[in-house]
Amino acid sequence: MSDRGNGRLLTARGLRAGYGGIAVLHGVTLHVDRGETVTVLGRNGAGKTTLMSTLVGSISPSAGRIEVCERDMTGRSPSAISRAGMACVRQDQPLFGELTVGENLNLAGLSAGADRVLGLFPGVFDGRASQRASTLSGGEQKMLAAARCLCSAKPLLVLDEPTEGLQPANVALLLQYLTAARDRGCGVLLIEQHVDAALSVSDRYCVLEKGEIVAEGMADSTAAKRVARLMAVSGVRD
Ligand code: ATP
Repeated sequence: MSDRGNGRLLTARGLRAGYGGIAVLHGVTLHVDRGETVTVLGRNGAGKTTLMSTLVGSISPSAGRIEVCERDMTGRSPSAISRAGMACVRQDQPLFGELTVGENLNLAGLSAGADRVLGLFPGVFDGRASQRASTLSGGEQKMLAAARCLCSAKPLLVLDEPTEGLQPANVALLLQYLTAARDRGCGVLLIEQHVDAALSVSDRYCVLEKGEIVAEGMADSTAAKRVARLMAVSGVRD
C-alpha cells in the first residue's frame, strides 16, 4: 500500500435517517481517510443502502453531520456533495439511461479518456460508445457505473454493492481497480454483502445491524471469521 496522507475524506457523525416516520439509521458514525478502503457490511435490511443514500445526499438526515473533504455537507444535494469530492455508484441511479455510454462518461468529470474507462472491462464496451445506456444489460450497466466512478477525478469513491450481478472475472477486476484507486491515494467506502471479497481489499470494516454500527475493526486475517459470526447471529455485538 502507498503512504497515506493525513486528509480525512469522509466523516459521518451520529447520522439518523429514514423514510417518512420510519427511522432506519440510529446514530451512525464512521470515517474514511485518504488512501484507505473501508467496507460497511451487514445483513439484508441492516440499513446499508439507507446509509449510502444519506451519505450521497439522496436522503436528508434528521440528525448528525456529514463532512466531505472536511467541508460540512449535511443536508446538501447529491450534486453539491459530488462537487465537494465524492464519486459514487448508487443502486438507485447507476446511469443516465437516456444518454449514450459515451455521454454518461463525458458528464462524469473523468481523470482518464473515455477509451481508457471503457477498456477497464476488456471487450465489454467495444464499439458501444453510442449505445443508449438503458439498453445495456444489468451487469453491463453496473460495470459502466463502476468504471465511471473508478476513473473519476474525485478523491472519495463510495460504491454500493458494485459487485452484485457481475461474473467472477469482472468482480476480480473491479476489486483490483478499487485497490489501485486506494493505492493512488483515494479513500474508498464500499458497501457489500460479499464478506470475503470485500475484506480482501479493505483496510477496515464496520458491521451495520438494525441501523447501528455494532462492530468495527481492521480487515486482518481474523476479520472474516469475526464478521461472519456477527452476521450469522442477529443482535450480537463485538
Ligand atoms: P439489502 O442488503 O437487502 O439491500 P440494506 O442493508 O441495504 O439491505 P436498506 O435497503 O437500507 O437495507 O433497508 C433498511 C430498512 O429500511 C429496511 O427495513 C427497509 O424495509 C427499510 N426501507 C428501505 N427503503 C425504504 C423506503 N423507501 N420506505 C420505507 N422503508 C424503507
